Amino acid sequence: MSPRTPTATGSVKIYRKKIIAGNWKMNKTTGEAKVLVEDIIRDIGKFDEAEIVLCPPFTSLETVSTLLSPINNIRLGAQNLNDKPSGAFTGEISAGMLKDLYVRYVIIGHSERRQFFGEDDATVNRKTIAALHAELRPIVCIGETLPQREGNTWKKVLETQLKGGLAGFTEKELTDIILAYEPVWAIGTGKTATPAQAEETHQFIRHWLAKNFSMAVSERVRIQYGGSVKPENAAELLNQPNIDGALVGGASLDARGFTAIVKNACPSPR
Ligand code: PEP
Repeated sequence: MSPRTPTATGSVKIYRKKIIAGNWKMNKTTGEAKVLVEDIIRDIGKFDEAEIVLCPPFTSLETVSTLLSPINNIRLGAQNLNDKPSGAFTGEISAGMLKDLYVRYVIIGHSERRQFFGEDDATVNRKTIAALHAELRPIVCIGETLPQREGNTWKKVLETQLKGGLAGFTEKELTDIILAYEPVWAIGTGKTATPAQAEETHQFIRHWLAKNFSMAVSERVRIQYGGSVKPENAAELLNQPNIDGALVGGASLDARGFTAIVKNACPSPR
């Protein structure tokens, strides 16, 4: 599909295909992963209205990769990577190792990595560079905590994360990056940003991209929303003009829930 579609007023609107990713976190053995992926494929293996990405734990990447190999519209993602290409880094996984398993996307800077594993914006920047060099598409996560939202410092917080995490990238590199806005207070809590709150924040991020990179970059970069996305709230959130997809945690562990999110958020054209 053309990336540019004329609007009713004749101006040109950039088409951004929605991207819905499931972040399984530290869940599912390989046997459980196989069952989940088979169920997802059965239901949305031919669904073409959105890009779909599954991010299992490292231990299931190979199994999921094999299952997805004949499927065109569902891609494989990883939840993390190390920024070094190889070496004495016990327990770590490099971009090259992910490529070897046909991984296409990698989540970087998830708030759980920031909170529990001390990752900061400089780490995010290094990992994003490593991912892009290996031709993996980074899903770079940003988001504020509840006190930051309530104290009205969220714009400053997001600006700092964007400035640090995206430092030094070219416009071309930027358009290969997917941003995920995930308010920390909405992750795994059952609390969701209202569609208006999420849209306002996505608009803020897009304006930041326009100001600090270019209008073309701001129109092309896809920004996912993440934080307690469920089948019941997916459509309203993803109908917002600046929300280009979802990063789904808990609800992606169940095939019916995940496929309902995909289908509710991106209904097939009639
Ligand atoms: C996440 O971990 O990225 C996430 C959004 O989790 P949940 O959907 O469970 O809130």
